[in-house]
Amino acid sequence: MQKISIIGYPRIGIRRDLKKLTEGYFNGKISKEELLKDSAELRRQQWLLQKSKGIDFIPSNDFSFYDTFLDTAFLLGIVPERYRELGLDSLDTYFAAAKGYQVQNLDVKALPMKKWFNTNYHYLVPTISDECEFKLSSSKLLDEYKEALDAGISTKPVIIGPLTFLKLSNIGDNEKKYFDYSHPVIGAYRQLFQKLNELGVELVQIDEPALVTDLSPEDIFCFTDMYNSLLAEKGRVKVLLQTYFGDIRDIYRQVMLLDFDAIGLDFVEGQKNMDLIEEYGFPKNMLLFAGVVSGKNIWINNYRKTLEKLTHLEKYVNRENIVINASCSLLHVPYTVKNETQLEERFKKQLAFAEEKLEELKVLAELWSADNYVQDNRYVRNSENIAEKLESREYLNEAVRDRVTRLMENDFIRQPVFEERIKIQKEGLKLPIFPTTTIGSFPQTAEVRNLRKAYKTGELTKEQYNEKIRDMIAKIVRIQEKIGLDVLVHGEYERNDMVEYFGENLSGFLFTQNGWVQSYGTRGVKPPIIFGDVKRLKPISIDYIAYAQSLTDRPVKGMLTGPVTILNWSFPREDLSLSEITYQIALAIRQEVKDLEAKGIRIIQIDEAALREKLPLRREDWHKEYLIWAIKAFRLVHADVRPQTQIHTHMCYSEFKDIIGEIEKMDADVITFEAAKSDLSLLDVLKESNFKPEVGPGIYDIHSPRVPGKEEISEMLLKMTGKLDNNKLWVNPDCGLKTRGMEETIPSLENMVSAVKDLRREKE
Ligand code: GLN
Ligand code: ZN
Repeated sequence: MQKISIIGYPRIGIRRDLKKLTEGYFNGKISKEELLKDSAELRRQQWLLQKSKGIDFIPSNDFSFYDTFLDTAFLLGIVPERYRELGLDSLDTYFAAAKGYQVQNLDVKALPMKKWFNTNYHYLVPTISDECEFKLSSSKLLDEYKEALDAGISTKPVIIGPLTFLKLSNIGDNEKKYFDYSHPVIGAYRQLFQKLNELGVELVQIDEPALVTDLSPEDIFCFTDMYNSLLAEKGRVKVLLQTYFGDIRDIYRQVMLLDFDAIGLDFVEGQKNMDLIEEYGFPKNMLLFAGVVSGKNIWINNYRKTLEKLTHLEKYVNRENIVINASCSLLHVPYTVKNETQLEERFKKQLAFAEEKLEELKVLAELWSADNYVQDNRYVRNSENIAEKLESREYLNEAVRDRVTRLMENDFIRQPVFEERIKIQKEGLKLPIFPTTTIGSFPQTAEVRNLRKAYKTGELTKEQYNEKIRDMIAKIVRIQEKIGLDVLVHGEYERNDMVEYFGENLSGFLFTQNGWVQSYGTRGVKPPIIFGDVKRLKPISIDYIAYAQSLTDRPVKGMLTGPVTILNWSFPREDLSLSEITYQIALAIRQEVKDLEAKGIRIIQIDEAALREKLPLRREDWHKEYLIWAIKAFRLVHADVRPQTQIHTHMCYSEFKDIIGEIEKMDADVITFEAAKSDLSLLDVLKESNFKPEVGPGIYDIHSPRVPGKEEISEMLLKMTGKLDNNKLWVNPDCGLKTRGMEETIPSLENMVSAVKDLRREKE
């Protein structure tokens, strides 16, 4: 029978067990021994599940306490001195690098985070420099392999490959390029290969998603050079080069000449891989791990189409050499539909999460081996389900479809132009120089979570719940006034999540109870599913925000989530184009903007935290489509506000430098960025490009619990004022504060405001 494989499995635990364990450990509630023991059990359960589903190539080392990229850095000995010299054991050193370390007088920041390709997963970015040791330095991969053997399972260890590792790391020395480190890094990989041989590992999976991005001749040379050297030492271990998130058009031919035993190609996002095989053929004795079951969407696989794909592949690749694979790690989907007891059956039968995808792989293998699969029950049922969704009119909203079709260029253009309206806004708002503000949410304390729970379980009526939320709003407004912030927020207490909350008030969205997906470290998100046409069902946050404004003379900034972010942090439907879905959402949020304005809200922030997320991985594809409609969708949301109304937007985590022109075209009045953790080179780019809107590059990093000192903030301010037009500079934390506690939030903001006040005095 056809063999089946997956690239990786979610690791947070079916009930977010790992989050509870690690956080329990961080809070001192459980011991290190318990953490290690219970997480081992978690891994064992998952291996056994995969085995029971008949997966032939079960991955190991896809588990991580925080992030597999960081694991790789530790494996290769790339651990900055500042963490090593804390004198902690290896696990605690690892956690220090992951989330920072602030104990007594010790204070070390976490590594920065970046988005992992076009997903909402964030990896920790190590810095590579001459100071690094480059030697096999962690036994995690080997230990987990042995652990699986003890459970009776021979696994395929998974590791991030050297090209991806180097290209996605920071290079500490400006004079150097990543490929200056290719030899030392390969040295460490070779040590690993030796160990794999000693252990008798049969197959190792090396992930090189960097191959699906634009590659320069240097990249290609470096890749070939590194793998020539590595593969010469592979010994008895077979090597699977695994790629995902796209096609490998820039390097296909070179890859096929190398001594890999198997290659994993993505046929879901990487349609072009098929063309490459057709054009250049496929080596006779190589295995093809064919990624045909999407590791990113949550919809059932279309068996007919997949089997057609496989059959087509068979023209070029021997059937015995084809392994049916997921298209990428299942990390990006929730655990199982079985956990969704509140979803109706008619929805459930359209969905496949990680566990269901295991089943799909198995069924596909069986169907493909069957003589006449079209008569197989499972095939028939699958076709019926697919047809049912396509033909259903229940989620069709003619009016919405019509409105989108009738959009005119004018609907996307705000009047008057920025230079004129910013003057009007400055006169109206009368803010001091360097206005201080926050990004929106305040800590979601136990009090807030309990409130929400009580409301959900019916302990609190809607009115009682509302009353409590209003109390919290009143409290946080007073706190912000006391801290001395200039532009206040209502705190977002009514929101569990910035996308889910909006989705709940829009038609066409479905929600899961347990559909958690890891976003970074211990943080999970529960993306909604866009099932049908989108329309605003009722006003969303208007009352809360208006209430906050009624309590203070300072402007309260209304908070909305933008359409591109709502799209990117949901699982989209696949029967409508992404641009159409996004325009539908934009029209819904536009109503919310108008309502806020009508209630006297003078500043409205439309968050586009995830603007970049679905940006194509290849530059030539950026402006073909994605950026065009993404920017237009944002403009559609705010194009018809009055000149007096100031539109803010906020973006986090990702690189902006290369799309700064596009960001300007969003035509917001003020943009707050995450820049505290990444370097401040963004500021140079803003300066060079004469960036028009006002900006608030985050002054401190909110992703770790440390309190930035006033001096630290003053230093940052100094750097920023040195680089940017001081009349355009806002001061704010780099993201929302919801994941933080009040105990660190208040002193942090006090330090921020106090540093700004000093600066204002100096400037007078
Ligand atoms: N307004 C949101 C908040 O403050 C923005 C969150 C984000 O950018 N991720 O939480
Ligand atoms: Zn943010």
